[in-house]
Amino acid sequence: MHRRIFAPGVLAAATLLLAVPASAASFAPGAPGMGDPYYPAAGNGGYDVSHYDLRLKYQPATDLLEGTATLLATTKQNLSSFHLDLGLDVSEVRVNGRLARFAKEGEQELVITPAAPLEKGKSLSVVVRYAGKPSEVRIGGFTAWHRTPDGGVAAQEPDSAAWWFPSNDHPLDKATYDVSVSVPDGSQAISNGVLQSQSSKLGWTRFAWRSNKPQASYLATLAVGRFDVTTDRTASGLPVLNAYSKDLGDHGGAARASIERTAEVTEWLEGIFGPYPFNAIGGYIPNVTSGYALETQTRPFYSPRQFANGANVSVVVHEMAHQWYGDSVSVHHWKDIWINEGFARYSQWLWSEKEGEGTAQELADHAYSSRPADDPFWQVKPGDPGPDKQFDIAVYDRGAMAIQALRNKVGDEAFFRILKGWPQQYAYGNAKVSDFVRYAEKVSKKPLAELFDTWLFQPSKPSAPAAAQARIAPRSAAKPVAPKSWKKIAETNTIHEH
Ligand SMILES: [Zn+2]
Repeated sequence: MHRRIFAPGVLAAATLLLAVPASAASFAPGAPGMGDPYYPAAGNGGYDVSHYDLRLKYQPATDLLEGTATLLATTKQNLSSFHLDLGLDVSEVRVNGRLARFAKEGEQELVITPAAPLEKGKSLSVVVRYAGKPSEVRIGGFTAWHRTPDGGVAAQEPDSAAWWFPSNDHPLDKATYDVSVSVPDGSQAISNGVLQSQSSKLGWTRFAWRSNKPQASYLATLAVGRFDVTTDRTASGLPVLNAYSKDLGDHGGAARASIERTAEVTEWLEGIFGPYPFNAIGGYIPNVTSGYALETQTRPFYSPRQFANGANVSVVVHEMAHQWYGDSVSVHHWKDIWINEGFARYSQWLWSEKEGEGTAQELADHAYSSRPADDPFWQVKPGDPGPDKQFDIAVYDRGAMAIQALRNKVGDEAFFRILKGWPQQYAYGNAKVSDFVRYAEKVSKKPLAELFDTWLFQPSKPSAPAAAQARIAPRSAAKPVAPKSWKKIAETNTIHEH
């Protein structure tokens, strides 16, 4: 775009051009990925989104989603073109108000060429009009969209955004969200944050949601269906909104008996992790057939099957712990998943300890001794598990054992200062496993590289359990007994589908 052919008679103009520094005159396409070693195509380069405004219409009977997305961003380099991630069909794109050329590349890359190249450091607005049936979109042979008898749901990790809105789809680019969804009267649209308004006209009801703190794209969620909604406020004034599919069958009671305790769980977690970082709490449970839960920001997603054996508050603890560990402080690259899952699992151990159903030490001992050294479990490195093992049980259980080893090494006083300080230190940002190691060393004033290398990065069973390594006598007998909470916590092991 910036190249010119010089003809005689325009030398004056050419001279002027030559006076411009080369860097300012050089425009290049933005990268098609964010540089994540596990998911090279995830996210894009060259710009940073600050806000998504999504105005959507969804028809539960046909699964047709129509949308206009307005993205506010800042350019990080001189751009001749740039990418967004989206699986649906696009009809029009405007950049800074002007029509732009666009083309789909592969399954999820939307390449946009603005009418004029974009200079580095400038604000940018992008409007994308799009439509399609999310259930028909396959990316890598997979769909993140749950089609339900009464609607559809977007809730998946590491990605679900491409099934319902165009984005820079990587946790490194967080933004605030306004999500406004029109659905037929009698249906509800559930998303993140606070329900700002709800209004009905000519047979359609529009729900307007606001998530006003930085949010990763995979933590944005949408559910359309027929829900019973409960609302309240916490003691500290946070709005609570829970939504239960009208179609939960026998699981309905157990689901409510768990999710209605979200405010209590959040209050308890604030005592450990510090102030809750977002503008609302709650949970929602659509009539999906999956078996996992997900920490969608402010309002986790739960599957009915998680409550098949009765109430399970432990899964609520796990997903709400993620609001600090995962949502406010997010992974830098996906290989840093331990800073999410290790701590969400460990918070379940702390809940068990509080409830008198087994201490974290007892759970760590049991997790350690119930897996022989030749179990493939020990070959997974929680600190860098690889994309195939990103959500392996080892990231959770061995990941939590690493945290118990840290606790034994530094003592409770320093340990709980670390747990509370970390979400403040990296609030609303991103962090790496190495950042945590450095932070824990700084707070505890102890060298911890060897301990974390043993527990997070060696593809073998550590030679001594978490307690023994800290020279605490192992409490277990030859045949360790499973702590009372073990089974309930194990029921949350299908937390992610892949
Ligand atoms: Zn989790």
